[in-house]
Amino acid sequence: MVLFCENRKVCRNVRIAHFLDETPRPCDRNSSAVCDICASEKDCALYGKGSGWKTDNAFRLVQQLILDNVLEERE
Ligand SMILES: [Zn+2]
Repeated sequence: MVLFCENRKVCRNVRIAHFLDETPRPCDRNSSAVCDICASEKDCALYGKGSGWKTDNAFRLVQQLILDNVLEERE
């Protein structure tokens, strides 16, 4: 249950179908009835664009954005 709630990548309908041993059917992105995961992907044009990046490169990008004052570092 914790993994289901903390999931931020896989469509909730797919997760539930796997749990119930049914054929997974992800949300229809053109529908207004999508799970929160698919809705967040639908709303953000940049969602997942860096998913193929190596962690080191993503870290360097964040560091550079902090140095350029695009992002703010907080404790
Ligand atoms: Zn979904």
